Amino acid sequence: MKTRRWFVDSSAELSTNNPQITQAAELLQQNEVVAFPTETVYGLGANAENTEAVAKIYEAKGRPSDNPLIVHISDIGQLDRIISYIPETAEKLMREFWPGALTLVLPCKPGMLSPRVTAGLSTVAIRMPDHPVALSVIRSAGLPIAAPSANLSGKPSPTKAEHVAHDLNGRIAGIVDGGPTGIGVESTVLSCTGEQPVLLRPGGVTKEQIEAIAGPILVDKGLTEDDEIPISPGMKYTHYAPSAPLAIAEGGAARIQELADGYKRQGKRIGILTTEENAGLYHADFIKVCGKRADLETVASSLYDALRSFDEAEVDMIISESFPDTGVGLAVMNRLMKAAGGTVIR
Ligand code: AMP
Ligand code: MG
Repeated sequence: MKTRRWFVDSSAELSTNNPQITQAAELLQQNEVVAFPTETVYGLGANAENTEAVAKIYEAKGRPSDNPLIVHISDIGQLDRIISYIPETAEKLMREFWPGALTLVLPCKPGMLSPRVTAGLSTVAIRMPDHPVALSVIRSAGLPIAAPSANLSGKPSPTKAEHVAHDLNGRIAGIVDGGPTGIGVESTVLSCTGEQPVLLRPGGVTKEQIEAIAGPILVDKGLTEDDEIPISPGMKYTHYAPSAPLAIAEGGAARIQELADGYKRQGKRIGILTTEENAGLYHADFIKVCGKRADLETVASSLYDALRSFDEAEVDMIISESFPDTGVGLAVMNRLMKAAGGTVIR
């Protein structure tokens, strides 16, 4: 399959009949899959009402079929067709954070969406992205759009169109290139189907921000305890992983250098994932700076690009610094832990 590529200037005002957006939307209406930028990462979109279209997402990504997809909408009016009931807290959170990086799991109206979107669950994960290109593609298609991250399953999520092309060229109908995404980690997933909201995946909107609006929320035990199975099916898979093994090291720069030297003596090519503050403290075969430690949003925004860069550098082993789990740091550490398959050196 030839993958089409359109360039759209995300910073300019988008006209309602922008030809690139219109062509992408037409392919979605024809039940093809198209990648587009959101404020978190690039999404791989398909018509959420059509099983043939949704099946193409799973096929292109090689995604396990029990991992449900997030449905993306451009207008609140689209909710009525999909959601059977909106709890009061969910409504408050939508008002505060939509459009934005907060996905809400809500009770689903039966028969409206392809059962492959929800992986057979009676709930659906839904959000309104805060990106002009994503919003105009969805609005122009006039459909709810199922969209996971536009990467091969297991690889780091794409924050640039080049990442999407690297993984999916020839496997999807098109890529709308709107430049690099902003937040850089996926949306926060919050279940609103019970008495109290439950955090299923940390992401772009922080736990602290949610609690300021909704009061105290619960955190899925599967996120923090090794022997618990996560409620959110996708959270049980290894994810975001570069080709070389990755270990997260605690204990500061001197300790990380000592570990790197140890691996070096075994003849390995070593990569270190660090920050602007600490980069000068190391010597290794490849040192990747991933934002500023003092501003964890910059770390989130460059994390996946940094993880992908180790593949190009062809290192045998990657050691990453560890980050505080406050604010967006909770999402950063969650993704790093998954990329490392849980390997932490203390
Ligand atoms: P991705 O599309 O790769 O960003 O992943 C979407 C995340 O949302 C995965 O972790 C899914 O398991 C989770 N998710 C989607 N739908 C539901 C649902 N109905 N209930 C719980 N988690 C869900
Ligand atoms: Mg993903």
